[in-house]
Amino acid sequence: MLTTAVTGNAYDVALENFDTAADVLNLENDVREMIKYPERILTVTIPVRMDDGHIHRFEGHRVQHSMVRGPAKGGIRFHPQVTLDEVKALATWMTWKCAVVNIPFGGAKGGITCDPKRMSLGEIERMTRRYTSAILPLIGPERDIPAPDVYTNSQTMAWIMDTFSMTKGYPIPGVVTGKPISLGGSLGRSEATGRGVFYTIQSACEHLGIQLKEATVVVQGFGNAGSVAAQLLYEAGAKVIAVSDSTGCVYNQNGLKIPELIHMKGLVGHVRDFPESESITPEQLLALKCDILVPAALENTIRGDNARTLNARIVAEAANGPLTPAADRILEANDVFIIPDILCNAGGVTVSYFEWVQDEQHLFWDAQDVYNRLERVMRTSFKDVLRIHEERNVPMRIAANMLGIGRVAEAVRLRSIYP
Ligand code: NAD
Repeated sequence: MLTTAVTGNAYDVALENFDTAADVLNLENDVREMIKYPERILTVTIPVRMDDGHIHRFEGHRVQHSMVRGPAKGGIRFHPQVTLDEVKALATWMTWKCAVVNIPFGGAKGGITCDPKRMSLGEIERMTRRYTSAILPLIGPERDIPAPDVYTNSQTMAWIMDTFSMTKGYPIPGVVTGKPISLGGSLGRSEATGRGVFYTIQSACEHLGIQLKEATVVVQGFGNAGSVAAQLLYEAGAKVIAVSDSTGCVYNQNGLKIPELIHMKGLVGHVRDFPESESITPEQLLALKCDILVPAALENTIRGDNARTLNARIVAEAANGPLTPAADRILEANDVFIIPDILCNAGGVTVSYFEWVQDEQHLFWDAQDVYNRLERVMRTSFKDVLRIHEERNVPMRIAANMLGIGRVAEAVRLRSIYP
């Protein structure tokens, strides 16, 4: 068991971050009351016939935090540590994230408490389809559009799209994003989060005068977001000296061969035992001296008790909520430049938005078009957040929250209250 695993309550962190930014914004109480908490929460029981014949009951959730600026948008997570509070936190962050990159969506998130690594493909499919039918009244291209998150992927989205379409009687690709290309997925979606992380790291390096070619990088969590970011940084000439996943950490001071590591992980499912690397502990990985640390695993992996050991100049939050507020304060005091999650990993939802637009128009773009549009969004959003950070003299996280919360507040003031 890795000792940097999730602890603490992510929803407390989400509320604390909201209050901090709302205070700096001088947000009026009425608006706070209307935008702080989830609009709708659904918890469902998911009975699944397991391969051995018995029925197992799973619990799942779908939380819609906000639909003020557009349909709710957010991933679905399959993980043993999924709780309602975690889903509420992730839904809340989605609202501010969509507003930071200025796409016309609100925030949502879903999850099932399960261990997909111990389930067969058939069991996962039956669980996904039953969960979809349980949350059916909430989702749809104009209401709430799920996407992949931890331990869900394009296949999971294909099952959700199929289940939803079968109940409606016609194909509705726009109900999910992160689908396979052959079902209306977008080119560039699967690597969008890591690519967006890369663009924000490029922007941060330009801002701080760091040459990417000479930079050293550590990645915690070598999954979708982490491995793509590592690959692009490697291609840009940076030295990725250590990476980890839930089974172990590998280190080489001269730089790991990332394409080979991705290939190996694809074959065997883990990074440990990679040739030309030594094994280190999760604590040693976090404490490595590097220019850029990319936490890309789960929430709360960097906390008050381990933040002091960090030795990085930039922390690029590919994961959602990897730093607790206590860790934030320590890194801030140590002058570490933080690219906050709702900016850093917003590339995923941005290309999800592009996918939804393409599905609605039945007109598809080429990969370069997707990359160019994504780069424009990420670089503009980075500049917008940096401007608030500099003009208001607040940490990058507060600046990003001020931008996102400010845009949602403006929308709610204009819409006012119903009835
Ligand atoms: P993933 O399942 O592809 O990868 C997660 C990786 O983290 C796996 O390799 C897993 O082994 C590793 N991991 C888990 N616990 C760990 C630990 N304690 N220490 C080190 N590694 C650990 O998931 P993903 O889609 O890459 O998501 C990772 C993070 O990025 C999550 O916080 C997710 O919410 C966030 N995110 C993902 C997307 C996306 O489009 N995939 C978008 C925005 C944010």
